[in-house]
Amino acid sequence: MRYVLFLVLSFFGCLSSSFATSSCTPGGICMSLHDQSNPWDTIDPNHAVLHGSVHVYLIFYGEWNYDGTLAGYTDPRINLLQNFIGDLNGSSWIAPVASYYDAAGAAATNLYFAGAIFDGAGNGTPTPGSQGNTLNNTTIINVLKRALTTTSDVRMDYSHTQLPTEDNAIYVIVGHHEVVANLEGETYGGSSATHCGVHYNSKYFDTTSANASYSSSWTLINNTNVKFIYVADPDTSSSLCEFFYSAGQPTPNGDKGGDALTNILAHELVESITDPVFYSVDDQNNYPYPTLEFGGWQDNTNQAEIADYCMQLPYPNTHYINNNTNNAPYTLNVGSHYYFLQGIYQAVGGPCIY
Ligand SMILES: [Zn+2]
Repeated sequence: MRYVLFLVLSFFGCLSSSFATSSCTPGGICMSLHDQSNPWDTIDPNHAVLHGSVHVYLIFYGEWNYDGTLAGYTDPRINLLQNFIGDLNGSSWIAPVASYYDAAGAAATNLYFAGAIFDGAGNGTPTPGSQGNTLNNTTIINVLKRALTTTSDVRMDYSHTQLPTEDNAIYVIVGHHEVVANLEGETYGGSSATHCGVHYNSKYFDTTSANASYSSSWTLINNTNVKFIYVADPDTSSSLCEFFYSAGQPTPNGDKGGDALTNILAHELVESITDPVFYSVDDQNNYPYPTLEFGGWQDNTNQAEIADYCMQLPYPNTHYINNNTNNAPYTLNVGSHYYFLQGIYQAVGGPCIY
């Protein structure tokens, strides 16, 4: 679900389904696996979550600084996010995801950083991303198509190549600060942002709003339903996307926006793993599905996914890097790396663990 703070009430009911695997806290939140009762349903319950080793690819979009002398992209967030994906793998933080099985009994077991490319560059003469500084429903798919079908973009080793197209992977588009994305009626990045990050799948993503023959416009890229995340620069909408740091508070990696990005990305990654394929709200208007249809794990009553209930402060497992509450908070430490992350709702028994 789109990343934005919302409050959790204590008396949500639970829908029941003869098919779904579900677990509910008494009188409370109910997470359940995809319910196939919808007669228009085309989502495969045996692939309702991403399985086994999940590859994560990063697409850095926009004017990420390129240093001609060093012949490389230099923004510290590039290494931060790359390391972060590796650090999440096998961590206590992501462990709850292993309990989110699909109908085939399979769950994700590993997270693997599999590559990165750059679409755009910043230096003395900035080169905007290929689709310009404002992305929409059509052009964000163009970013993915370009990354997966051309050799136009710059790979992390600074050769030009395309990324592999994989069904069991997540492609993360990381917008530079000048980029604003308007996707299915919401805004990511900039002072008018309504949300901070989002995950989608290309097949059920509405590239042609109000298209009556929507099914004919379903987007497969290299014959694959591509799962993707968009995250904006949190510094451009700080009150919305950096709310978990108080003013002037140090952050674990000394970059408030980069540290906020790790938290927002973590949220979208676990939701993309456990609910990779769904029809979005806007699709309902353009295609005859009677309800919003989630393909994986969600709370049917509130149309919330597994990270949506665990965003608000406080994060109970908070520690401080120098054991001093004036210092940077963290909830996950892997080697010399520290991250301050929200919780994940547990599939069995709930509630959030951190
Ligand atoms: Zn969410």
